[in-house]
Amino acid sequence: PSLEYELTRRRVQTNVAEIWNYFSSELGKIRKSLGTGNSDLEESIQQVLLQGAEHKRSLLSDMEQLRRVDGYEAWRHKEATELSDLVQRRLHHLQNPSDCANARKLVCKLNKGCGYGCQLHHVVYCFIVAYATERTLILKSRGWRYHKGGWEEVFRPVSNSCHDAGTANAYNWPGKPNTQVLVLPIIDSLMPRPPYLPLAVPEDLAPRLKRLHGDPIVWWVGQFLKYLLRPQTSTRDFLNSGMRNLGWQRPIVGVHVRRTDKVGTEAAFHGIEEYMTHVEDYYRTLEINGTSVVRRIFLASDDARVIEEARKKYPQYRIVGDPEVARMAAVSTRYTDTALNGIILDIHLLSMSDYLVCTFSSQVCRVAYEIMQTMYPNAADRFKSLDDIYYYGGQNPHNRRAVIAHKPRSHEDLQLKVGDLVSVAGNHWDGNSKGKNTRTNQGGLFPSFKVVDKVETAKLPVYSGV
Ligand code: GDP
Repeated sequence: PSLEYELTRRRVQTNVAEIWNYFSSELGKIRKSLGTGNSDLEESIQQVLLQGAEHKRSLLSDMEQLRRVDGYEAWRHKEATELSDLVQRRLHHLQNPSDCANARKLVCKLNKGCGYGCQLHHVVYCFIVAYATERTLILKSRGWRYHKGGWEEVFRPVSNSCHDAGTANAYNWPGKPNTQVLVLPIIDSLMPRPPYLPLAVPEDLAPRLKRLHGDPIVWWVGQFLKYLLRPQTSTRDFLNSGMRNLGWQRPIVGVHVRRTDKVGTEAAFHGIEEYMTHVEDYYRTLEINGTSVVRRIFLASDDARVIEEARKKYPQYRIVGDPEVARMAAVSTRYTDTALNGIILDIHLLSMSDYLVCTFSSQVCRVAYEIMQTMYPNAADRFKSLDDIYYYGGQNPHNRRAVIAHKPRSHEDLQLKVGDLVSVAGNHWDGNSKGKNTRTNQGGLFPSFKVVDKVETAKLPVYSGV
């Protein structure tokens, strides 16, 4: 397929969701503003909302069908496999230098003082820098807060042959070009910042990625996780038995409800009903042509009460989830081996779900979404986040390009000219996004459909011969 065809097809799909976000939110506001004595009008609005929602689901279902029958699906699968194999071969090559003693190395310490998802993102960032500087990643993980024995007891070592930094002096970033062993700080303290940090993808792969994938950076991050999270045998056995015990079956929607220490500090509280609205919408879309499926959800949380509450309130759903795992995820028991098993299993199952409903403010769900990209040619649309759009902690500005001009509707709005670059802060999921026009330096709201993502690229080694 041509690049234009794939971009347009995916844009239509995204904007079907956007136009419905807009109409349903506006109608909802009008309905709310009605005083008493308006019950006829209220009823009419309710009918429009119901009809409109069904119409939207039908359109989305047709877009899925279009993808399946347009004749390019075999190409998408083949291209995804080839691209992934290529990147995995490059990582394998990078991590297994023929002469370890003299190889250039990048030292990364796993023990960033944060949760598992945050730590994984820290390692991925290190790995991206390693890839970009052609240095073998040395992961220091002894005394890991989640597992004292270190990373290698849980996942396969990041190298088969090159495990430590050796005897050469280690220098802090940025070092000198001939520095053999370089130590990397956390992304927030990195100075100077190289151009290849997220959201950039490698220039040599970008043309293929843009055609294949709806959000290339998520695919790119997913490839590093694919390499990093190759399980040790014991971890693999544990994951398999975990799936058996839970009675894992698809289709299933993965729901992640992040509570405890996150709520009120880094994220807002969202009731289970809000998540379930989107789960129901997903299943109704799946069932639009009259087929009926068992409605399963996989529910992961750091608050066990959420699972109990959902089971009570939604008996018509088969709710897969283990309250015991959620109990261990509480702050007091979080950094233990049992809790580590729990979070590994939860992220694994979220990533294997057909669709994700969660808050992207949580790194748990972002990691699951990133891994999910390794399971499909393009899983960019297989999520509903109740808050943030996708981001990578410490990322460079997220730019979108205006393809339709915008005249401000109120003082809250941005003005857009075709071609303007907007640095986006978020999507309000009501048809509007928030951002800053980089041409005028003005911040404000604009209709989400008037922009398209600008895929950032960086010149990186091409690993010729690999
Ligand atoms: P964030 O704080 O949500 O952005 O994500 P982090 O991964 O950095 O830290 C949260 C930590 O809380 C996780 O790593 C887990 O240890 C724990 N946690 C949060 N949600 C869940 C969950 O759904 N299941 C399990 N097992 N643990 C969770």
